[in-house]
Amino acid sequence: MSKLGNETAKAALGRATWKLLHTMTLRYPEHPTDDEREAIRSYFYLTSRLYPCGECAAEFQQLLELYPPQTSSRLSASSWLCFIHNKVNERLEKPTFDCAHLDAEYDCGCGDESDKSTISPSTTK
Ligand code: FAD
Repeated sequence: MSKLGNETAKAALGRATWKLLHTMTLRYPEHPTDDEREAIRSYFYLTSRLYPCGECAAEFQQLLELYPPQTSSRLSASSWLCFIHNKVNERLEKPTFDCAHLDAEYDCGCGDESDKSTISPSTTK
């Protein structure tokens, strides 16, 4: 693949990944259980290990070391991820996103299940 093709594919992967991660934090419970907190924490660390773009994975790992995931509530998780994404934006010289607009930006079309976690054990049966 050409260099331009590589960059386009890397950007598409990044957009898709951010979309999934932000949407997930905005569906995360307001009052998570210890198990739910551990699940989302692990998800971020596993993503940082397995992310297919090596330089992106390395950057994510460094950010996780500097700024460990905040998992005590939906607000803390979604604000933390917004902050992390802005750190990546900064490095790539992209505009900073206003985290007050998260709810408007990420509607997953999943219906009115605002109290349900995407990772709750009850939804995996
Ligand atoms: P993206 O940054 O992909 O954002 C998509 C959309 O999300 C934006 O259009 C905006 O609507 C919204 N958005 C922007 N900022 C925020 C925010 N803070 N919170 C919530 N929503 C926001 N690419 C590299 O070239 N080098 C890297 O080292 C690198 N590291 C990455 C690390 C991770 C963990 C991930 C997931 C991606 C990484 N990428 C990296 C890809 C990069 O971040 C972008 O996804 C890619 O360059 C496409 O950028 P974009 O301008 O389309 O917007």
